[in-house]
Amino acid sequence: MFVCFFEGGDELKSVLLKEGEVTSIKIEVTAEDGSTIKNYFVLVTRLLASDASLSGIGLSCGQLSPIFDAKLTNYLANVSFHCDSFVITPVAADKKTTIKVNDHDPKQVVPLNCGETKAVIEVTSPDQSNKQTYVVTVCREEIVRRIRFVDGKLNQKFECPVCLGLLYRPKSIANSSPKHVFCKSCIEELTRTSKVDPLDESTLKGDWKMDEFEMEAEMAASEVHCVFAYLGCTKKVLLRNLGNHLKECEFQIVQVEKSGELVLKKDLESKAKVIIIYKHKMKNHKNMLQSTKPPSP
Ligand SMILES: [Zn+2]
Ligand SMILES: [Zn+2]
Repeated sequence: MFVCFFEGGDELKSVLLKEGEVTSIKIEVTAEDGSTIKNYFVLVTRLLASDASLSGIGLSCGQLSPIFDAKLTNYLANVSFHCDSFVITPVAADKKTTIKVNDHDPKQVVPLNCGETKAVIEVTSPDQSNKQTYVVTVCREEIVRRIRFVDGKLNQKFECPVCLGLLYRPKSIANSSPKHVFCKSCIEELTRTSKVDPLDESTLKGDWKMDEFEMEAEMAASEVHCVFAYLGCTKKVLLRNLGNHLKECEFQIVQVEKSGELVLKKDLESKAKVIIIYKHKMKNHKNMLQSTKPPSP
């Protein structure tokens, strides 16, 4: 028998809760004057032991979209390029519910790919009779397209044949061999009106667009040169961690807030306030530095 206890005045009262049902409990409060009475109602849901739903999903970065609803099982979370790993915290009302994230303990740090990373949350009901899967696709903001891999062969392997930049959120055409892989936005744009594979003009049928999470993971774990190598940075990092390095890189161009002058971060006078500009003006970076007047003495 499941009961819930309420303490009020000098009394401790128990209320019987039925499995899978909502029980309404009325609490009557009488003021000290003995005549003013106010009623409160508490609704208590006793879940079925076979319930395999979550009551919430917490993320260490980004926000869930749409807003969590136990009945919705697919979510997207957009995060900044600087976020290279995350922790997902699924919450279940019953402590006996078993939860795994990508087959691991939910508290584990999940390394992020540079485009999309899939987190599969498997929930097993307290009585083990029922399972439910929630999927959160974490999407990292795109920031830099012109990347040089340390292993030169990878530059071609991870290049989109449409935009010639680094593959972002890669999708491949089902049954193509070797795989025809494109950025998600590139292939969606090209197939908006004509449903053909742009590389061999074969007709696209049914569920032709395949996720390439494995390729994303391989890209993220490959070593790249810093994008400011042309300005002198010799650092090599995993593509996954490039965002974090760019936050620190001494060879990026920053703008001195007061004077508007553009300088390399390493040449900055320590106390000057700066505006980080690489994020917005990456493409024009080199030209900007060349057109910058040398700092006045
Ligand atoms: Zn592309
Ligand atoms: Zn650097």
